[in-house]
Amino acid sequence: MPELTQHKRFALEWIDERARRFSDWHMKIWNYHEPAWREYKSAKAYCELLRAEGFTVEEGSGGMPTAFAASWGKGGPVLGSYAEYDAVPGNSQQPVPYPAPREGVHPWAAGHTDPHSQLGTTALAGVLATKATMEKFNLEGTLKFFGEPAEKVCGSKPVHAAKGYFDGADAFISYHPHFTNTAILDTQCGSYWSAVFTFETLEPEKWIDKSLVPTKHTSHAAARCPGAIDALCLMYTMTKYTKEAMFPHTGTWTLNEFVMVAGDATSDNLPPRFSQIQYSWRAPVLGIQQQIYNVLANNARNAAATTGCRASVRWVTKTRVGLTNHALANLTFENMKLVGAPKFDDEARKFGRDIQKNLGFEPMDSPFLDDAERLMPPQEYETYLRRALPEWQLNYTSDDYVDYTWHAPTVRVLSMRPRLKPPNDSYEYPAWVNNAMGGLPAAINPGMFFGAKTIAATLIDLLTVPEHLKRAQDEFKQRTGGGVGGSQWVAPLLPRDFDPPVDLRWPEYVETVRGPEWWIPTPHAGSGAGDPL
Ligand SMILES: [Zn+2]
Repeated sequence: MPELTQHKRFALEWIDERARRFSDWHMKIWNYHEPAWREYKSAKAYCELLRAEGFTVEEGSGGMPTAFAASWGKGGPVLGSYAEYDAVPGNSQQPVPYPAPREGVHPWAAGHTDPHSQLGTTALAGVLATKATMEKFNLEGTLKFFGEPAEKVCGSKPVHAAKGYFDGADAFISYHPHFTNTAILDTQCGSYWSAVFTFETLEPEKWIDKSLVPTKHTSHAAARCPGAIDALCLMYTMTKYTKEAMFPHTGTWTLNEFVMVAGDATSDNLPPRFSQIQYSWRAPVLGIQQQIYNVLANNARNAAATTGCRASVRWVTKTRVGLTNHALANLTFENMKLVGAPKFDDEARKFGRDIQKNLGFEPMDSPFLDDAERLMPPQEYETYLRRALPEWQLNYTSDDYVDYTWHAPTVRVLSMRPRLKPPNDSYEYPAWVNNAMGGLPAAINPGMFFGAKTIAATLIDLLTVPEHLKRAQDEFKQRTGGGVGGSQWVAPLLPRDFDPPVDLRWPEYVETVRGPEWWIPTPHAGSGAGDPL
């Protein structure tokens, strides 16, 4: 049973004394609101801070410009955690209690939803508090802190894993903001695969027999090769049809798409030469993932054949499913009890009530979910989660932290982020509500500091009480059939020489002659959509 040792007391106080510093840091990342693979300012800020703290920092680790791998200390044990910092397109919002996208960029620019600004700051504060404790009490060990971009496409962690960055670690802590405070016991995240299918119109001149056309050199009136945009539309349609036949209606699996490039020709009489559609799919079992891919690849080949195009595929990511560790989950929850459940203050509650008022409800005395201000035992959370799942399904939803779990015992720590109580069971708050609360320090800080303290206390247990680490590692060996490379172990699914897809057309902020913009230009009015129909 862990105790509140002098080491932990020091770490917890260290965080309290620096509350303002980490709160400001959170707002800095929140205000960058950079989307997946394009978190240039956020990653640079983390690298500079970690270097100033004495970490050795590899910027652009694994061939990913907005990733990093930082390390501090010497000898064992080697303990790791990570920051994420990607925001999500379409979620731009100011920290105000009414809908208000940020000014000066397109209203559908990116914003922090989960929020990953909180995720990274919590892990950072936890790791830096541990480092301060190690310095103060001369504790031996190495802290690794990774910068993991593009979590929204499960982008970087499978790449770091494939390229050996997680090798040699003794334990990892994976953190995410959530509606409550707990550690995952059994139902870890499932698998996420994503690939971009490209269609290219290579020889449109061969599409029709020119001898059949009575006039020559009058291209505007001639039938043209269908081309890349038609291939993309066919792929889209065929995939909607065949989705029914991919897997039975059991368990939670999903398949969604993003049109990356389409019809980018201002000359309508010429066939678009290039189109790209990204498919992302989640399933609890790797076999289902492969089955879905087989259908997608078949659809792409057929869409290309019909439209005079060439089809190609580029992998974005392939994650495994999460491997759990009870010893670490239980240890973490014991530390949550030592830290004590987070509480909102009056400023946060007032902001919550203002939102409710602006949405036309009776404001509540206590507007946040009750689960945010209590600790939920891992078994209770497990029971809650499994209510919607069939017995055969062991993993649920997706997040690329799962790629850590196969290289060392890993705990998935969840601490609260502000979420409002719905006025009735059928109501769901609009997205801007969560996005706005993410930018209010009074609402974000309680869950963030609770999470940071839990992380620090758990890392300190692993550094100072060898039995804790041994128990976690024995369990890891047993679950993997002997540890990394063992009989039950699953190797990274991407090849070691994988070329990360950072050169694809991901949404981003750009510098233009008109000034800095979201990739969709800043409109003259509204969203630039024109007259409503
Ligand atoms: Zn997330």
